[in-house]
Amino acid sequence: MNPPGWQQLKTQVIDAGLCTRCGGCVGVCTEQAIVLDDLMGEALPRLNGTCESCDGRCYAACSGDYVPFPGLNMFLHDRQPHNRYLGNFRSLSVGFATDPEVRAQAASGGILSAILIHLLETHQVDGAIVTRAKPGQPYLPQPVIARTPGEVKAAAQSKYSIVPVNAILQQLAEVEGRFAYVGLPCQVHSLRKLQAAGHPAAQKIAYVIGSYCGLTLHFESVRSFFEGTRGSRGGQGG
Ligand SMILES: Cc1cc2nc3c(=O)[nH]c(=O)nc-3n(C[C@H](O)[C@H](O)[C@H](O)COP(=O)(O)OP(=O)(O)OC[C@H]3O[C@@H](n4cnc5c(N)ncnc54)[C@H](O)[C@@H]3O)c2cc1C
Repeated sequence: MNPPGWQQLKTQVIDAGLCTRCGGCVGVCTEQAIVLDDLMGEALPRLNGTCESCDGRCYAACSGDYVPFPGLNMFLHDRQPHNRYLGNFRSLSVGFATDPEVRAQAASGGILSAILIHLLETHQVDGAIVTRAKPGQPYLPQPVIARTPGEVKAAAQSKYSIVPVNAILQQLAEVEGRFAYVGLPCQVHSLRKLQAAGHPAAQKIAYVIGSYCGLTLHFESVRSFFEGTRGSRGGQGG
């Protein structure tokens, strides 16, 4: 029989088409029984073993089923936002990285990379959770812990495909320190739920930087986009 937490996740989220692929369930499974390894296919979590000590934390980490925004706002800011779409904020600014190299290498001005580099250089964090292209398979982005400004720069730019960022919590559980984290809304929702629940690895994340997200693509969408582009050029593309 499937463990109850996984069964709830499977029925209410995965089979219901609500999985965001954030990787939270993978990252918190104490038995490492949940994997998300079919990235070129459906990219859905699956049970790969048994979880004897299951307490339902995989379902609790899920951002696909429900996100308790009022409770999370109280947990993080001790108040509800004046504007429910903007959320809680102190001030709103537009900016870019003043380091020309960071600005040039980044997706949209490099503010995210610049903040991470500043946090590392001023020793406010021991590492930053970022998403970089997998060596040898650049179309497969993966979450990593960047420890140096160079590693932050190497992970700059947006990867418009599925990245189970919160699977990194497994790795984070094994290391000491304070960390920064860059994530898309669905990934951040899972992380905030875990922080509110007191998950030990999630507590190590001191700075959460959220990036706006219009959509995330399946690899198959990227592949068919390239094929379509090649087709519209009359088959000239390589
Ligand atoms: C899938 C996706 C969809 C987006 N959709 C929009 C949109 O519709 N409209 C809009 O204005 N902006 C969108 N963005 C945000 C935008 O592309 C830039 O990421 C953002 O403006 C920050 O720019 P930057 O130069 O400061 O980032 P950079 O300094 O280049 O740093 C980017 C950071 O994001 C991390 N990152 C990259 N890809 C991912 C990922 N898939 N998951 C988690 N972390 C990641 C990198 O590790 C890096 O740390 C999207 C980003 C992504 C990843």
